Amino acid sequence: MNSHNDDSKVDLVQPIKRAPVLWLAVVAIFFVCVSIVTFNLWQLEHAKEHELHQAEISTTNLSKSLAQQAEDTFDEADVILVDLVERIQVDGLAPAQVDRLEKLLARHVVETEQLQGVFVYDRAGNWIVSSFGIKPPNANNADREYFKYHEQNANLGAHIGKAVRSRTTNAWVIPFSRRVNDAQGNFDGVVLATLDMKYFDRFFDRFHMDDEGAIFLSMTDGTILARRPFTDDVIGKSIAKGEMFTNYLSKSMSGTAMLTSIIDNVTRLYGYRQLEKYPLVVAAALSEESLLQEWRANSYKSLVIIVSAVIANILFGMVLVQQIRFGLQAETKMRIAQSALEKLALQDSMTGLSNRRHFERVLNIEFRRSGRRKKPLSLIMLDIDFFKSFNDAYGHFAGDQCIVAVADSLRACLNRAGDLAVRYGGEEMAIFLPDNDAEGAFALSEKIRLSILARQIPHADNPLGIVTVSLGCYSCVPDEQNTIETLIQRADAALYSAKKAGRNMSRVFE
Ligand code: GH3
Ligand code: MG
Ligand code: MG
Repeated sequence: MNSHNDDSKVDLVQPIKRAPVLWLAVVAIFFVCVSIVTFNLWQLEHAKEHELHQAEISTTNLSKSLAQQAEDTFDEADVILVDLVERIQVDGLAPAQVDRLEKLLARHVVETEQLQGVFVYDRAGNWIVSSFGIKPPNANNADREYFKYHEQNANLGAHIGKAVRSRTTNAWVIPFSRRVNDAQGNFDGVVLATLDMKYFDRFFDRFHMDDEGAIFLSMTDGTILARRPFTDDVIGKSIAKGEMFTNYLSKSMSGTAMLTSIIDNVTRLYGYRQLEKYPLVVAAALSEESLLQEWRANSYKSLVIIVSAVIANILFGMVLVQQIRFGLQAETKMRIAQSALEKLALQDSMTGLSNRRHFERVLNIEFRRSGRRKKPLSLIMLDIDFFKSFNDAYGHFAGDQCIVAVADSLRACLNRAGDLAVRYGGEEMAIFLPDNDAEGAFALSEKIRLSILARQIPHADNPLGIVTVSLGCYSCVPDEQNTIETLIQRADAALYSAKKAGRNMSRVFE
């Protein structure tokens, strides 16, 4: 098919403007995958925070009740010590007095669960009286930390010492003591209550905790007094360098913190509290492992579901993308077929030139365009001379071949993209030349005529003995007077005048 105007091409096969479906599908699937993962991870994180928050509440409550218990324990012992100091100062320590005190102290120890023993030492550290009755020969406690403390400090308050092994029972005890002054206010001895560590162990054991959970009672300087789980070597050990003392207790008297123990390297959530009345710290801790155990199990299940959902989504996405691709391919094939059909519908099957339908369509477009631009356009009408007799002489089939040959010559003469050659009807053809004036049209017309002559197709009934054509040209700038009809009529009129003037010539409409 010969070339024709670009605009007409646009008119024929209009590209479908659509969203890039394939990409949108890929982006949508990606978005769904990201959403599934993000939402689930967020939920897992949220669940973890919830677990930790619940554990913080538990450890806080636990530390509160431990603090209360510790305070009560020492308070009870202190009442006994205060009373003892007062008795010593008022009644003195004559032998009769010592006997009475011994019985009193023994009764205190029986009645007070946490008490392991109660002792009275003179200013040199010698045993004067104890709840045990028996007095080891030459027993002297001047070497004990609490004794030295009271000897050197005028402070009359209670003092809690480091846990030690009792010299009487070898059991672990916490020394709790007060200074005794004489009438002049000079150091006159020490009263001591030893608190049984087993009491704290029993108390600590009452709480339901996981295997890795921990509870401890320590001095504010970090010295451990009692601990669950209990091990001999831990008692008296200092955890002052641990994060709880360096980072947390230095800033706040109570709180919670996730810490790794410097004793056993287990990470736990600690609820800690420093007592207001005594230089003591209590802490209760649940191991991170146990408090996140259920969460971890759920997380694994969730991860399996997330991965499955993502895989299912991707598989579904692949099927979807494949289907879209098939759809797009089918559509492209259909459009190519449709475009080919459209081309056929606008083409003359015998010559391959454009048909009248296409001609009219292009004329309409070009008329509007040239009218806007005030540019001239031209039409050449062509008719084969004495064709009736050609048919008569050589037969209808040869006539057809002759028409095809003329069409070929015509096509070969066109060299501008916009020019359009048409089989107008029978052996009549038209050449439409947008952006071309009468001069150009006439020149092309002559070129066509000569190229057909050059073919030397024999035609006995033509005076020249070969096939000739007559051509009529008309050019105009489209306006109210110069319509499509006038263009065709005048080109036709020019053709008629060429016929009348003897044929085998080109004529421009005058
Ligand atoms: P003129 O020089 O005046 O044009 O004389 P002419 O004989 O060519 O007269 P006209 O153009 O009127 O003749 C048209 C003839 O062309 C009529 C018909 O027999 C013949 N014809 C039209 N279409 C076809 C076709 O498709 N094939 C063949 N073989 N002949 C056709
Ligand atoms: Mg003719
Ligand atoms: Mg004719």
